[in-house]
Amino acid sequence: MGASLVMVTERGVEQSWPLEGQKLTVGREEGNGIVLPNAWVSRRHATFRPNGGGWFLTDEGSTHFTYHNKTVLKERQEQKLTHGDHVCFGGKVSFVFLEREDAAAVQKVIDSLKPREAPASKDSYANFLAKQMDSVFSSLKDRSSDATLVEQLNDRVSRSVAELRCLYEVGNAINAETELDKVLELILTYIIPATNAERGFIMLLDPQGKELRTVLARDRDQGLSSDELTTFSKSIARRALETGKTIVSKDTASDPDISSKSILDYQIRSAICAPLVARGKPLGTLYVDAKESLKEFGTKDVDFFTALANQSAIAVYNSKLMSELRDANRDLTRRVTELKALFEVSQRLNMGTDLKGVLETILDKSIEVLGAERGSIMLFDEGTDILRVRLLRGDVPAGADEASPTAIGLRRGEGIAGKVAETGQGIISNRGFQDPLFKKMVARERDIRQILCVPLRIQENVIGVINLINQKSNEDFSPDDLRLLQSLASQAAVTIDNNRLYNLSIYDGLTGVFVHRHFQRELLKSFDTARRYGRDFSLLLIDIDHFKRFNDTYGHQIGDLVLAEVAGLFKRTARTSDIVARYGGEEFAMILPETAIPGARAFAERLRALVEATVIQSRSAPLHVTISIGVASLSSGHPATKDELIKQADAALYEAKRSGRNKVVCSAATE
Ligand code: GH3
Ligand code: MG
Ligand code: MG
Repeated sequence: MGASLVMVTERGVEQSWPLEGQKLTVGREEGNGIVLPNAWVSRRHATFRPNGGGWFLTDEGSTHFTYHNKTVLKERQEQKLTHGDHVCFGGKVSFVFLEREDAAAVQKVIDSLKPREAPASKDSYANFLAKQMDSVFSSLKDRSSDATLVEQLNDRVSRSVAELRCLYEVGNAINAETELDKVLELILTYIIPATNAERGFIMLLDPQGKELRTVLARDRDQGLSSDELTTFSKSIARRALETGKTIVSKDTASDPDISSKSILDYQIRSAICAPLVARGKPLGTLYVDAKESLKEFGTKDVDFFTALANQSAIAVYNSKLMSELRDANRDLTRRVTELKALFEVSQRLNMGTDLKGVLETILDKSIEVLGAERGSIMLFDEGTDILRVRLLRGDVPAGADEASPTAIGLRRGEGIAGKVAETGQGIISNRGFQDPLFKKMVARERDIRQILCVPLRIQENVIGVINLINQKSNEDFSPDDLRLLQSLASQAAVTIDNNRLYNLSIYDGLTGVFVHRHFQRELLKSFDTARRYGRDFSLLLIDIDHFKRFNDTYGHQIGDLVLAEVAGLFKRTARTSDIVARYGGEEFAMILPETAIPGARAFAERLRALVEATVIQSRSAPLHVTISIGVASLSSGHPATKDELIKQADAALYEAKRSGRNKVVCSAATE
């Protein structure tokens, strides 16, 4: 029986040993039948033993194992050898077991082993390699040794080498990239020519793992148009995904489960599709096909294509993981920025600034953190319930101060800010000036591209809004931006301490004097006290004369300016114990405790004369208004209620108007 062992290394046939009736030991030490001076081989590693006309191999408890056709032999287990078996000691020294002379075949084996030199770093690459070797070895076992077999083998081996090289290159290229888009692009760029295909499609499962979506499709030269994205054979793709196996188009003819409708529809000549599976989870499918060329995919392509798909799946999986990491990282960075901004705002606010300072801090920080060009804060006017710009910061365009920001007044529900104030919900408008919601008032607003607007809330009440205008990067504002601005805005509410919060609710934004509600509260308190203890007490109702006309002449914003000036004048003239309040639009009220009618009349007269004599400076012209005043006082416990007192003052004011304006009239009831 002429069996023999041929030792092969990367360099070729090293040596051969005949196997002749006697057992033969293999080991590192002298005294073995085959001495292998290799550190991976044990002193006494394995034994070849004849039995009943065949040969058997046993591992003798080696440290680095004996492999039979790539499988580890169990210790002491006898393994029968057949022609062409691959035996490897310690994973390092390889032999081929031959039952007869077969030099040519051995040479082929050696050639086919060559690609082993390539560093098989990736799992799938190693698997593919092992499979290739197995198939070469198994074909060796075919009895016939005629020329066609040699030719076939030749073909097969050179094909294997080419495929291995390609696989190695593809693996290296796509695994070096981490951006998913680029990975996908690279996969198709390599795989279409490598498989001789015309077109390639990569489909990925949606996050629910239900639907396959084409994420990239291209032919040899370029991407496919959007209406071509679905022109692949759905049945083959579905089948590959369902079975987890590589499917070739010839199956469509023989397999009744596969309807070949799309194959007919899109005139696909031949196609092959493999599932993309990583860590046991299906990700999608890799699909290539040919429409015009004579390329026909068949079973011979399955191994190679499967190996390509495995490489691709790993790359896709890794890059998805990377992009998830990147996203998570971005979220975290954003959170940190957010917290930092909030912390800074609260720090600064706790240093004890006034309301204006609070709003400035919040607006400045919002503009900075969100990268906006500019921003504004609009607050409700207590008297008129109209939203007005109270603060403008950032890169305010030229001309903005000319048309004073206070010119912009919006009613509840009007424009974007009005809508936000009405609903209490923030709005992102990335159409800016073009947004139908946007209320166009001045031409310079045409430069508005993006708007982010959130309500400014103190406890349950919306007191105004914060607007951010235009991203410096010109990107759209995102829901994340909205959330951040909202937390900055709510920081205002959290940080404004009770005292300032109280101030905010009792002072009128435009004029700085008390609001109507507070006036009523104060009046009730001081009126009752004065009445109970028989103290003097007077009330003034003041109304600016012909103010409507004034507005019509000079504009509403100049009107506002005058309102603020006049109120300031009232406050400077009053005693600290007096209460000055905005009663309504251009009407004011003053409570004068400890003041009887003569004092009240004199004071009112002084006020009237002062306003008459005051010239208010503005850009356009020196301005000038007059006021009418109605006076009512508590006298001998009359009237009985504060409402009565107001009524009397109101009647007096009416009389002042009627009798020519720029007058002081005392209530008849009082006199
Ligand atoms: P008179 O009191 O002398 O009878 O005339 P008037 O024109 O002042 O009277 P009326 O009460 O009819 O009009 C008040 C006007 O005051 C109407 C409105 O244009 C103006 N006004 C009210 N509130 C504001 C405000 O907050 N800002 C400005 N600019 N104008 C206001
Ligand atoms: Mg009036
Ligand atoms: Mg008036």
